[in-house]
Amino acid sequence: RKLGIALVGLGYYSSGRLAPALQETQYCRLAGIVTGTPAKADEWMKKYNIPKENVYDYKTFDRIADNKDIDVVYVVLPNSMHEEFVIRAAQAGKHVICEKPMAIFPKACQNMIDACKKANKQLAVGYRLHYEPFTKEVIRLGQEKVFGPVKFIESSDGFRVGDPKQWRMKKAMAGGGPLMDVGIYAVQGSRYVTGEEPISVTAQFSPKTEPQKFTEVEETMFWQFQFPSGAVSNSTTSYTAGIERLRASCEKGWFELSPAFGYGPLKGMTSKGPIELPHVNHQAVHMDGICKDLLDGKTLPNHVTGEEGLKDVTLLQAIYQAAETGRKITLKG
Ligand code: NAD
Repeated sequence: RKLGIALVGLGYYSSGRLAPALQETQYCRLAGIVTGTPAKADEWMKKYNIPKENVYDYKTFDRIADNKDIDVVYVVLPNSMHEEFVIRAAQAGKHVICEKPMAIFPKACQNMIDACKKANKQLAVGYRLHYEPFTKEVIRLGQEKVFGPVKFIESSDGFRVGDPKQWRMKKAMAGGGPLMDVGIYAVQGSRYVTGEEPISVTAQFSPKTEPQKFTEVEETMFWQFQFPSGAVSNSTTSYTAGIERLRASCEKGWFELSPAFGYGPLKGMTSKGPIELPHVNHQAVHMDGICKDLLDGKTLPNHVTGEEGLKDVTLLQAIYQAAETGRKITLKG
């Protein structure tokens, strides 16, 4: 049996990535949609053969509780809306996948975790890279210390943002700029390569080169984490130019992914030669990985759950605090 997934929010990521990926998944299928735009509902029903009774809008959404066709709700809305829809999905008795960043503030993440626990439903975050072969390999190289202990890391992700009017440029909806959007990948990269939690952070905003465009959110920023083993990381995130790489320098060599965080093909190299692995559809392996565990009645692995999402959101806020105060912020580790 394939689990039925309902996508909530039919913007770029749902239409360009998730729905096509759901045409090649083994353990799940596109069963329903939740949209505020009737024209999109018609288009999707035709294109993906979705029955009318599996189509909801944001008001009728809670009726999804009575729909046996839908096992998992996947929230793909602007960041500030994740909390409400994850909680409503859990209350409707569905497992939930929530896009990254899980929320803007840690408190919202905790509310989402609590709601899913209370409903006895599982909560996953859209961390597709944890199911992606090149990423899994650098996690192994780092955490198993294949090149000796990791000493320093460069982990950066950025791109040139398009339409300045989109929700990504609005602080209330996005929570911030590139840090919230793609900087989270750089945070994840430094955490999964070391397998450690940072114990302190320093951070800096770059001066704005396009102040008329970046009125509410940062344009580019930098941060540094210190890890318990002594490893340090340096990261850049930006909405003004592209950067995408993860490189770890270890006592006896190095490894890197460049590109490291996009939809692929990712490319890997080590001090001993190239990393050769199959290229996969990130969204298909992500949803299949989660749904296989759900079908097998397993608890999802820690690194894709709401608890992991909460850790990252806590760090994102600490990075902002460090940049705003100019002080080194001590973290729980
Ligand atoms: P998008 O702007 O393309 O789509 C957002 C959707 O939300 C649209 O369908 C829009 O109609 C709907 N929406 C409902 N209420 C809205 C409101 N009040 N304001 C604006 N839009 C509203 O965005 P996207 O790129 O699809 O991103 C959605 C989520 O997915 C974000 O959290 C983003 O971080 C995440 N995302 C993740 C990945 C990944 O690789 N995991 C990639 C892209 C986006």
